[in-house]
Amino acid sequence: MKPNICIKCGKDKSWSETDTRRGTEASRRMFALCEDCFLQKHELFRLDNISLAVCQCGSHYFSKQEKFDDLENALKSGIEKRIKTRNKISSIKIRIKRHFGHKYQIVVSANGKISPCKKSKTEEKTIIATVKNLTCEDCIKVLGNYHEAKVQLRGKDIAEMIKKAQHILPKTSWVKENPDGYDVFFITKTDAANFVKQFKEKYEIKKSFKIVAQKKDRVLARDVYVIR
Ligand SMILES: [Zn+2]
Ligand SMILES: [Zn+2]
Repeated sequence: MKPNICIKCGKDKSWSETDTRRGTEASRRMFALCEDCFLQKHELFRLDNISLAVCQCGSHYFSKQEKFDDLENALKSGIEKRIKTRNKISSIKIRIKRHFGHKYQIVVSANGKISPCKKSKTEEKTIIATVKNLTCEDCIKVLGNYHEAKVQLRGKDIAEMIKKAQHILPKTSWVKENPDGYDVFFITKTDAANFVKQFKEKYEIKKSFKIVAQKKDRVLARDVYVIR
């Protein structure tokens, strides 16, 4: 009887569960190795460097056409989509190892099985993710002064109002000072309504509309609030 040892490491080469496929050159070579040497010899996945984009406002990350609120999720999704493999991957973990400017060194660790071996393998690869800058739709609106709502802060408590506003203003809003107080501009009506809500208990709020355009059956109006 032939000795049942791995030709590479000399250990017993009985596989935990063996595929009975035999005869081909590939399978003969495969069965000459123990499971560990087989797994070591075969690559679980391949992955090239990737690139993402971050908006100048810092609130959105983009991987291909998808939008994310944080870098970690954008990276994870980008990596999962670009991973190249014919094997069954059961989990992928990522870790940011280092970061220089807009380049991130990422350690990608995947776990999976390489057929016909039933034992799973964990493989690590280090890639570079380049994060480019772009201008998101919201930022384009802010840059173009586009707004759907305006909140006017007025009255004797203005200093207190501004102090409160600083903590709750969304990134997609901007403030202008004028002789009567401050005007806060919002790119969406929802953002403005959420902002105003925070002042409801202590101040008087008045809402009105300003028509900015009229097209056939459609009226485009801005929401205008006065808080005092
Ligand atoms: Zn071996
Ligand atoms: Zn932006």
